[in-house]
Amino acid sequence: MTYASPVPAGPRDPRDTMTHLPTGEPVYDVLDDRFMACIDLVAQLERLATGYRWAEGPVYFADQHALLFSDIPNGRILRYDEHSGAVSVFREGSGNANGNTRDLQGRLVTCEQGVGRVTRTEPDGSVTVLADGFEGHRFNSPNDVVVRSDGSVWFTDPSYGRETSFVGIPRPREIEGDHVYRLDPATGALTVVADDFWKPNGLAFSPDESLLYVVDSGYLPDPAGPRHIRRFSVREDGTLRGGEVFAEITPGIPDGIRVDEDGRVWVGAGDGVQCLAPDGDLIGRIRVPEAAANLAFGGPRRDRLYITATTSLYAVFTNVRGVQRP
Ligand code: MG
Repeated sequence: MTYASPVPAGPRDPRDTMTHLPTGEPVYDVLDDRFMACIDLVAQLERLATGYRWAEGPVYFADQHALLFSDIPNGRILRYDEHSGAVSVFREGSGNANGNTRDLQGRLVTCEQGVGRVTRTEPDGSVTVLADGFEGHRFNSPNDVVVRSDGSVWFTDPSYGRETSFVGIPRPREIEGDHVYRLDPATGALTVVADDFWKPNGLAFSPDESLLYVVDSGYLPDPAGPRHIRRFSVREDGTLRGGEVFAEITPGIPDGIRVDEDGRVWVGAGDGVQCLAPDGDLIGRIRVPEAAANLAFGGPRRDRLYITATTSLYAVFTNVRGVQRP
């Protein structure tokens, strides 16, 4: 399904060519002229597939022209084939998998939030546990993960997957806080890199990896909590400093984030995908008919933004290129 309206004849304002949702709302919300360079106003928002219970964790495999994503409550990882448009089951019994990424060798790395571990899928399909706890205590429920160019695996561990049976397995927590971790898969060394979050969630490095953006979605479940993105400087030794608020995100909560080659931050929120300039200004929005959780740039030119939004998978072509390794 494609959401689009006929292009008006002889538009005087390029924004008149903007595609629209079935509700009549424009797909694009241009809040700053800087956003105009990021989009093609006639590019349509496509609903590629639907019928999921709660979709998250998209990760693109250029070598397979495919996108993997999680349906958390159904405990499945799904595979969208970019050529045929078909969706198949990549894995049943995913441990309520949530965020996915790839390591430097292209292997799938997954946060299994129902089981409470971070795993790697080997080329033969076997699953290796990278980490399942810290100092003898099991993780809360790893939520999202990113791999740095030195091979280190960075992930967040909020307690969502221990609180309800919809997205995990209710069970008492073993670790007092909800932290951000850095894992060196070569040595197994695991460190807490940030311990002052309510609910750390999506995370992404800036293009040169000097900055790390981390979402705090503590507003869910406690409205007294934050719903913002924090920005840290990454030191040579892999520790963080700073951590100031980069942007407040409403409506809903911020969840997954991705960075494009020019350093803009794209974040899933209650009204779709929001685009933030490197200075933190909200410059535009791609409206999505369902609350958007996670996103991933894909396609042969890495300019197609895939969006997992509640029950559906959407995509839209942009005019930027996302950063993702490999
Ligand atoms: Mg998340």
